[in-house]
Order: sequence, then C-alpha cells, then structure tokens
Amino acid sequence: MNDKPKILLHACCAVCMAYPFELLKENYNPVVFFSNPNIYPEEEYLRRRDELIKYCEQEDYAYIIDDYEQDKWTEYIKGLEKEPEKGHRCNKCFEYRLNRTAQKAKEKSINTFTTTLTVSPHKVSKNIFAAGEQAAKNYGLIFLAQDFKKHNGFLKTMEIAKLNNFYRQQYCGCEFSIKK
Ligand code: SF4
Repeated sequence: MNDKPKILLHACCAVCMAYPFELLKENYNPVVFFSNPNIYPEEEYLRRRDELIKYCEQEDYAYIIDDYEQDKWTEYIKGLEKEPEKGHRCNKCFEYRLNRTAQKAKEKSINTFTTTLTVSPHKVSKNIFAAGEQAAKNYGLIFLAQDFKKHNGFLKTMEIAKLNNFYRQQYCGCEFSIKK
C-alpha cells in the first residue's frame, strides 16, 4: 500500500472500468464500486457483475458490490420510461447511481469519488458531472469530474477488454434501452 488517497470509482461494467482504473492509479488508490440496479434482466446484471469481479480478482483490485435493488431504481425513474437514450431518464439514472456511490464513499470514509460512465461515447459527460457534483454536495464529499473518453479513452478501454476477452453487452442496461 502506498500513501496515495483512496477514491471510490463507480463502475458500470468491466469494459468501462478497465482504462479509468489504470489512469486513476497514477494519483489514487481506487476502490471499484459496482452499483447498477438499472440493469435488466437479472441474468444480464449477474453477467456484468461477475465479469467485473473476475477482473478485479485477477488484477488484485479492491472492489465493493452494491445490493441489486431494481424496484427502487424503477420507482426513481418512474414517468420517464419512454424518454430516449441521453434524455431525462438517463440523467435520473446517473443521479441515482452517483448518490449511491457518494453514500458508500461516506460510509467507508473515502472523501473523493468518480465514475466510469464518462468513458462511453454514448453518454453526455456534462450531465454525468452535474449528477456527480450534486451527489458530492449531498454528502459533503468531492466529485472528480474526469472525462475518461478524452485522449482516446474509449479505444484504450476497448483494447484492454479485447485483451482480456471481456463479455461485451449490446445495450446500455435498463429494459428501455434494449433494442427491439
Ligand atoms: S439507457 Fe442507460 S443510462 Fe439511460 S436510463 Fe437506461 S441504463 Fe440508465
């Protein structure tokens, strides 16, 4: 263990986590937090969760798995089911998961947190930052607003994913994002 500070890294899957974790290691001791009750169905949730656990164990990365409380998430985004991707439902979804992350960081006495969500070219980083900053305020913590897709971040994380033969999902996560 070195003297770098800890950071709680909210991660949506192994693919998106790989490069952000490596980058953060330069300045922090990252702890991965898998908190994704948006993922539907449960079989898909377990698949993404288990892939992330397998990689963390292989690399000896610290990680925490949140409860899978899909009913609470569904209630939180109620009324926004028909919103398109990148719309209001996604902003609420970021809000939900980043508040869970801030709550966990507080519980573990980790004063900084961030998320892998910005590595995806399908997500609007400024909306993720707004949700993260609000969650930080709610819990009196620091949100690291890092845009992981910058400097070819998405390509870099895909390279690690290919190298490790990660499972790659075909949709964002919730049942409303499944392409029919
Ligand atoms: S499309 Fe993705 S980010 Fe948007 S609400 Fe669904 S799971 Fe959340």
